[in-house]
Amino acid sequence: MAHPMRRVAVLGSTGSVGTQTLDVVRAFPDRFKIVALSAGRNIELLAQQIDEFSPEYVLCEDAEALKSLPGRDCGTLEEMAALPEVDVVMVSTVGSAGLLPTVRALEAGKIVALANKEVLIMAGEQVMDISRRYNNQILPVDSEPSAIWQCMLGERDAIRKLIITASGGAFRDKSPAELANVSPEEALKHPTWSMGRKITIDSATLVNKAFEVIEAHWLFDMPYDQIEVVVHRQSIVHSMIETADGIVKAHLGSPDMRYPIQYALSHPERIFNPGLKPFDPVEIGSLTFEAMDSKLYPCFELAIDVGRRPGTWGAALMGADEAAVDMFLENRIKFTEIPDVIRGVVAQHTAKDTPNLDEIIQTAEWAYDTARSAAVGSSN
Ligand code: MG
Repeated sequence: MAHPMRRVAVLGSTGSVGTQTLDVVRAFPDRFKIVALSAGRNIELLAQQIDEFSPEYVLCEDAEALKSLPGRDCGTLEEMAALPEVDVVMVSTVGSAGLLPTVRALEAGKIVALANKEVLIMAGEQVMDISRRYNNQILPVDSEPSAIWQCMLGERDAIRKLIITASGGAFRDKSPAELANVSPEEALKHPTWSMGRKITIDSATLVNKAFEVIEAHWLFDMPYDQIEVVVHRQSIVHSMIETADGIVKAHLGSPDMRYPIQYALSHPERIFNPGLKPFDPVEIGSLTFEAMDSKLYPCFELAIDVGRRPGTWGAALMGADEAAVDMFLENRIKFTEIPDVIRGVVAQHTAKDTPNLDEIIQTAEWAYDTARSAAVGSSN
């Protein structure tokens, strides 16, 4: 075979991107081999995955359950990310869990496929610094940055602009008044993409889109005033770039996360996956683009404003948003109170300008706890 087997570790294998990564691996048994799997608390699904893929190393949050699972315990996610037997680390964890493993994987020279975008929201400057120091490129898995990356391939001259598309989330047709009474169940119905719970709520508030702007800023070293967001309901154009001569290149395809996952795993090769639905422009018929109505999405500008600040601000934003999403899913706050929770934490944050990674993680935890305890106080 011309292509060597790529040995893959999946951090967060039972989540949405994790299971779709395993779908891709399953389709190419002669190209990808699962060496390590880690999960949180979904032991049942992890056990099925172990049964199917026979990874050498396994991790989960439940220490008792871990003892009963086949596969060697490699201690921590960081150790898993740096295993000598691993070529590609798929970081499909959620929140701050992916930060240290991403850093260790970069330092160990692994191919890092990054789906856990919070890593760059919390520590974009530090992580990109390490990526440059180790001359190790991070491969985006998120569909929008993946599209931008693919549009940029072969472009040597300056890119004038990145245009990130947004579906508008579950509530794109609601009025601001209607939004006050939407339920978690309604928010979890994303119109075009199938994703995890946290990111689906973040898509409804457009915090996810703000995170993608910040992610693109770091990954592509692009100033914020050269990154635009447009609402594109069909989720067919996954993002665009404008080149120096004013030409716009767009990346089109079905809204299926397995495409960007597969490209991150196979890069620089492209391989045909017969299990994915081919793109048919006639079936789509028409594509629409609209300006974003910022009144509908007060979280968007708030998240950009805070997330682009240096030091620990990104971690504070990330922790506050995570708490706000959890509280909304627990029916403890209204959808329209999510920005208030974030603002409340931001108002209390004393930032560190040059934090280390531990301080960044501590800030995220502080923000999460502060958001939750403030909400307890106000509802009593
Ligand atoms: Mg995305």
